[in-house]
Amino acid sequence: MMKYDHDVLIVGGGPAGLSAGMTLGRMLRSALICDDQRPRNAPSAHLNNFPTRDGIHPAEWRKEARRNLEKYSTIQTVDARVLSIERTDEGGFIAELSTGDRKTFRRVILADGLQDRLPDAPGFKELWGKSVFHCPFCHGYEARGLALGTVANGAMAAHALPMHFGLTQDLVLFTNGPADLPAELREAMVHRKVELVETRIQALLHEETVLKAVALEDGRIIKRDALFAAPMLPFETKSSLGEMLGCEKTELGLFKVNEMNETTVKGVYAAGDNMTRQHSVLHASGHGVTAGAGIVSDMLYGEFMR
Ligand SMILES: Cc1cc2nc3c(=O)[nH]c(=O)nc-3n(C[C@H](O)[C@H](O)[C@H](O)COP(=O)(O)OP(=O)(O)OC[C@H]3O[C@@H](n4cnc5c(N)ncnc54)[C@H](O)[C@@H]3O)c2cc1C
Repeated sequence: MMKYDHDVLIVGGGPAGLSAGMTLGRMLRSALICDDQRPRNAPSAHLNNFPTRDGIHPAEWRKEARRNLEKYSTIQTVDARVLSIERTDEGGFIAELSTGDRKTFRRVILADGLQDRLPDAPGFKELWGKSVFHCPFCHGYEARGLALGTVANGAMAAHALPMHFGLTQDLVLFTNGPADLPAELREAMVHRKVELVETRIQALLHEETVLKAVALEDGRIIKRDALFAAPMLPFETKSSLGEMLGCEKTELGLFKVNEMNETTVKGVYAAGDNMTRQHSVLHASGHGVTAGAGIVSDMLYGEFMR
């Protein structure tokens, strides 16, 4: 029987990958976690909505999660990019790393996260995670009662706007182009005095990382303290390894998975932001645990029955 370097290759050392690693380590499986240090929440100074560590710096959370893994002797972490993954004739996988190493694995977990795409207007990139946020659950509490804006259109606006209104009644919807909104949302906006701005955003005006106002292409300046920007769809994963392996995606750009997070390719699992619309550290960790447990159960069943 072929000998593998590790049972599992985990692509990505974010909440999903690190939690998968812990689950595998606790069941004596071996795994190599490869991470190229591009965490999604890196622009943010606080990781919120995470019991026991609410408000911790995201980098500190990762450091601590890595420290937790040190006691599991079968789990290794390496700061490296996974450049390619191919299936071997024996049904395992061979991966090429940016360190130059080529290693073999029985299973793969793709925990590579998502690449945020932002509107082109100057200011979005600079303020991302600081005054422009992706999620009210993560950063809404700190922005409660402020003059807020929602940058969204269509179904996403209908989903996001009521949540943002729950944080403040001083709310403006920026559709950043012609609005495409359900009639009932427009009516509710009039009733709730939420202004609709369709003119394209020219730039976000800010002092350091604090938003001051939104400058529109028609010259208007609308004072705002913070914005929530809906994601641009479809989502984009941070690597193309899933495509390389032939994993199918949904129309939203997320990996199709079964109840144990196995993708449409046998032996390849996905965990975290890349396979769910619930984008939070807790959700990603939970999905990492599910993928790890799925692999443990599958491998141990196979070995026991052999
Ligand atoms: C600005 C911002 C702030 C946020 N704040 C919060 C918050 O306060 N609370 C909260 O619960 N959630 C927050 N989130 C959401 C949270 O960051 C994500 O849901 C979570 O990080 C997803 O975890 P993940 O492991 O799937 O992906 P990530 O954390 O993005 O980790 C994926 C990792 O994979 C690595 N990777 C990708 N491709 C490769 C490759 N080929 N080889 C090796 N490594 C690779 C990347 O470098 C990255 O480190 C925030 C998101 C953003 C954008």
